[in-house]
Amino acid sequence: MMTRIGLISDVHANLPALEAVLSALSKRGVERIVCCGDLVDYAPWPNEVISRLQGMDVTCVLGNHDAAAIGSFPLALFAEEARVTVDWTRDVISPASTSYLASLEEVHTEGDFVVVHGSIRGPLWEYVRDPFVATEALATLDKQICFFGHSHIQGGYMSISGEVKTIDPHAKLSIVPEGKYLINPGSVGQPRDRDPRASYAVVDLGGGRGSVSFERVEYDIPAVMGAIDRAGLPHWLAERLEIGR
Ligand code: ZN
Repeated sequence: MMTRIGLISDVHANLPALEAVLSALSKRGVERIVCCGDLVDYAPWPNEVISRLQGMDVTCVLGNHDAAAIGSFPLALFAEEARVTVDWTRDVISPASTSYLASLEEVHTEGDFVVVHGSIRGPLWEYVRDPFVATEALATLDKQICFFGHSHIQGGYMSISGEVKTIDPHAKLSIVPEGKYLINPGSVGQPRDRDPRASYAVVDLGGGRGSVSFERVEYDIPAVMGAIDRAGLPHWLAERLEIGR
C-alpha cells in the first residue's frame, strides 16, 4: 500500500511560505507531513509556525536553529551574523513553543526511512552537500531512505549497486528496492539554490518502491521582506529571500 507524504524542511519562521506549501500539499492529497527541522530563526513568525505544524500532527525532528532557540545548541557554533537572529528568536519564543521544540527527536526512525536535520552522524551540524559526505552517509545508512535538510538545497543523493549519484530535483525520482536514497525537499522559508520560491517534495512510498517529486510554489516575498524589516531582524535576511541565496 502506498503512502503519500508531504516532505518539508527549514521553514525558518516564514509563515506565508509555509501556508503556500501547506495549501499546495493539501491539493496533492498527502496523508501526512514529515519535516526535517529548523522551524525557527530568520523570519518573524516562530510561534505561529510551530503552532500551525503542531496542530497538523506533523512528524518533525530537531534542527540546529531549533536547538539554539531553546538553549541546547551552543551559540558559538553559529556564524557571527546568525547569532543576531538566534537572540531575536530567544526573546520572542513562547513557553509552549519551547516545550514543543524540546520534545523533538534528533533522529526519527520509522519503517523504511530515517528523518534527520543534517545527517545521521551529525544530526544538528553536518551538511550533506557534496558527493564525498553523501557517499559516507549512504554507506552507513541501514534503512532505504534518509530524509534530511540543513543545506536548503533541493535534491540529494542516491546509490544503486554502489554507484553514488546526485539527484536531479527537476525530474521525478523513482524509488526502487535496490536503491538507497538521501532526499532533501529544500527549504520552505529560505531557499538557497537561486530559485526564491518555497521548496517541498511529495513522496509516494510503499513496499520499497515509490517516487519523489520535487516542487516549488510562489508566495508573497515582498510582504515577508517588509515584516522582517519591521521586526528589526537584519535586512540581509530580507534580501536573500528575493534572490533565493
Ligand atoms: Zn536551516
